[in-house]
Order: sequence, then structure tokens, then C-alpha cells
Amino acid sequence: MRLKSICLGLLASAFTMSSAADTVFENGVVYTLDEASSRVSALCVSDTGRLKTLETCEPNKKIDLSGQVVIPGFVEGHGHLMGYGEAQLNLNLATAQNLDELVAQVAAAVDQAEPGEWILGRGWHQSKWNETPKMVKGFQTNETLNRVSPDNPVFLKHASGHAAFVNDRALEIAGIDEKTRVAGDGEIIRDTTGRATGVLNERAQNLVSRFVPALSRSQRERALELALDGLANVGITSFQDAGASQSDIRLFQSFLEEGRLTARVYAMITGGDSDMLADWMERGPLIDAGNGKLTVRSIKLVADGALGSRGAWLLEPYSDRAGHSGLPTMPVADMADISHLAYRNGFQVAIHAIGDRANKEVLDIFDALFDGRDRGVRFRIEHAQHLHPDDIPRFGQLGVIPSMQGIHMSSDRPWAIDRLGADRIRSGAYMWKSLIESGAVLVNGTDVPVEPVNPFASYYALVTRMTLAGYPEGGYEPSERLNRETALKTYTVNPAFGAFEEAFKGSLEPGKAADFIVLDRDLLTVAVADIPGTKVLMTVMDGSIIYKSDAAMFQPQVK
Ligand SMILES: [Zn+2]
Repeated sequence: MRLKSICLGLLASAFTMSSAADTVFENGVVYTLDEASSRVSALCVSDTGRLKTLETCEPNKKIDLSGQVVIPGFVEGHGHLMGYGEAQLNLNLATAQNLDELVAQVAAAVDQAEPGEWILGRGWHQSKWNETPKMVKGFQTNETLNRVSPDNPVFLKHASGHAAFVNDRALEIAGIDEKTRVAGDGEIIRDTTGRATGVLNERAQNLVSRFVPALSRSQRERALELALDGLANVGITSFQDAGASQSDIRLFQSFLEEGRLTARVYAMITGGDSDMLADWMERGPLIDAGNGKLTVRSIKLVADGALGSRGAWLLEPYSDRAGHSGLPTMPVADMADISHLAYRNGFQVAIHAIGDRANKEVLDIFDALFDGRDRGVRFRIEHAQHLHPDDIPRFGQLGVIPSMQGIHMSSDRPWAIDRLGADRIRSGAYMWKSLIESGAVLVNGTDVPVEPVNPFASYYALVTRMTLAGYPEGGYEPSERLNRETALKTYTVNPAFGAFEEAFKGSLEPGKAADFIVLDRDLLTVAVADIPGTKVLMTVMDGSIIYKSDAAMFQPQVK
């Protein structure tokens, strides 16, 4: 007897040493998004944050999922992580229904501010207001803003980022008066008397923004914390940052070292910074630091502007501005040179291209570079919004990844038709399904902070082709709608592929990262109108629960 119990004791200690501490999440409806579209009811997570088969699972903890739906964590395919966090330090003006509400938000901030402190905000959009105030050249004017903030300078970015609304104090600090002119593509909006009305378009924003004090280290840390919390709340476990500065990357690294990086970050180098570019070309890519939490192996370039401001570079003139076809924002030869440099040094290239001309030029660069040799380099076009029909099959043929944002279609399609006309819209705008049918791997995202980071709104756009207000019935160009499973893949496995990371994440399979989320409804079967309101009940990244909702319907029992 005594001998036996000793043996059992030895066995037990051997058992605990070898099995460590697996956790089973059971009694769920798990869409794995693997090749076979498997559905299972439980997941086993090892203490190294990887998934295991249930057969080899040795759990010492069980979590009951109460029958809720589980999918892989979302991979945001294109956003701006620090921009998202910094926007949360400032006023969020996207919720202001009109100019009076915007001014009231500023007034409240002025009450809290130190004398002379800058009041910053983002997200206003005059076309979305429920009342139209006095307008000059399509924009509001700053009289009421001056009244509530005579001494604190105010700088408020448009939702698109392409204009700013400022008060007279800010204009004064910048030295803008009747005589100030802007070089290049910018405009100080003025009334008939020549007075600046407070709106600065495109490059004119820099006249004031250069006086806005840079954030301190602690403010930047706070911004990143807020961004990471925001991602966990909506189920994003990986984030592809479309243009990180050297100091952004240093901040990500320090968060990684301190164990605070709760989303995997795929940071693209800002290609416009030549010193940073040269530095990274010399040292080579950083891949999978911290167990796949930080990778720097992509270079972001910008070929053209946006459609709203008619900066997107088109093959034919804009339908609503004769003789104007937009412009490249960097010389084509420079884009080609940097693409070659990146290719030689083992980096991916991701180029922002919105207009059909910009997309064609970038495809030509990639085509010449690959020269039929290498379809596996996974170069990307960010946005790929408006394409000449002849260029659509080239994505599949060249293996170029279209990294698009479903939510941009839903926000912009109602007015994009004015810029492009019906023919170009129907044959080449937001061509998700045609691109997939060409063999391309479509990546989805939001471009946060240009759009809210909410993945469910972008997913809704992909499956309905409607605005968030549910217009028009049946959707714009409905043949381009995606089925639900395909749409979900554009937010999980496809962006993982777009970052060379599909071997360890994007679907829920043994050996892959335990990055998954629990939802309050089934995205594959729920009524379409109920998709945008989806709530995340729990977010697990690298095997750790990084967010849990306090919804009464879901209180997992730990056994
Ligand atoms: Zn972007």
C-alpha cells in the first residue's frame, strides 16, 4: 500500500511536470476557418499560448463558453495604431451631430484646459451634420469656435484627415493673415472679404499643425495603451500598422519587452522617411519578435491622394471636375527604385493606390520587378479602390494582395459616383469579389482612425454592399458582395497571409496561436441587420484572456 502511494505520488509529479497547464474552452460553437471549414465545440490552449488537439490536452482548467460562438481573432489589415490611440487622447468629433455640438465639446475641453493649452480633436464631417450652418466654399466658419475659445488655440482634423478646422488664436500663432499663401496642393479657405474662416485644406493644415506641441513619452504610452484596449474590446488580436515611424517601433518594442503588447503588430516602415528606410535596409527585417508579437518587414509608400479631395490619380478626368485627373504623390521612378531595394533586402512593399491610374502604375512596377519570376513575394496595394477593368485580373496573375477596407465603400460609395460617374463605378470600384475570382487574396480592414476600428461594420459592408444606414436595399453593385465565410476570411486568414503569418495564425488549428474571440451572436447566420451591433464577450490573445465583457448573458465558469 505504502509503496503504491509513493509510486502514484511520483507519477503525479511527473505528470504535472510534463503536462504543465492546459486550459480547455468548452461548450462553444467554434468556427475554426480551417481549409475544411470545421466546426468544433472546444479548444485546448497550452501554457505557451498555442492550440493543441483535444486528444493531447491535459487540462487543469476548464472554461465554459455557454454555447456562444467562437471565431479567430480579427486581423486588422490596414490601420494606424498610434493615430488611433492619439485620437483617443483628443476630442472625438465624429459623434457631433452639428456645428453647435462640436463647439460645445470644445467649450467643455477649454474649461478643463490650462491657459494657452492646445485643444485637439478629430472626426468632424460637415456633410454628415443634421443642420447646415453658414458655409463658405462648402465648409463651416469659425465664429462660434472663437467665442468659446478666445485664448486656447484649437486644431480639429476632418474625419478624412484632409482638412482642419481651427480658431483665430491658432491662425494667429501660425501667423496666417490676409496675405498668407500656400504652396502646392493646399488652401486657406477665405470669405469674400479675404478673412480666413478657419478651414485649412490639405497641405495648408501644416501651417498650423507644426505649432502643435509633440506628445510627451508618457502621453504616447497612454495613447498606445488606449489603442490596445480599444482593439481588445472589439476582438482585434493582430494589427497591421500602415506606416510606423522609428519612434513608434521603439515604443512597440518597449511594450513588447514589458509584456504590454496585447495585439500582435505588423508594422510597415514609413517609406517617405529616407533615413529610416536606409537604416532598415541595412539591418534587414525583424520577424516574429516575442513569439510572433512584433514584425517589421514591410515598407509603406503612397502613390496618390484620396478620392474625396480629388487627389486620387485617375486615368481619365474626374466626372465632377473637367480636365483634372488627380496627381501622383511621389514620382513613379522613386516608387520603382524603392520597390527594387526592398525586394533585394527581403522586405515586402505595400503601396497606397486609390485611383485607377495609380493602381495601374503600381501594378506595372511590380510586374516589371517580378518579371514573371516570383509570384510569392506578396507585395500589396493598399486600398486598391478604383481599378481599370483590365487591371483587375493582374492582381491574381501577379500574386499582388489587394488590401481594401469594406467600410470605405459603405461610407464613400454614395458620393464617389459624383467623382467617377456611373460607368467607372460599376466596372471598377471596390471590386472585392472580382479580385478574389482573379485569384487574389483579399485583405480587409478599416484604416482607423479614418474610419472607426469596429470590424463588424466593415464585415457588414462586405456582405451587404450597403451603407450602415442600410441603403440601398440589395446593396451597391450587389454582384461584388461576399458570402459570409469568405468575408470572415478577409479579416482573419487572408491578412495573416498578407503578412506571411498564415502558418501560425488566422485560423484555429493545433499548433497555431490561441488568438480567438467569443461573440454574442453568430456572424455566419444572424440577420444582416444585426451584424453591426455584434458585441465581443471575450478576447483571447496568445492564450491569455485580454478582454472580458461584463454582459450578464455570459459569465464563464472556471472549473
Ligand atoms: Zn491608411
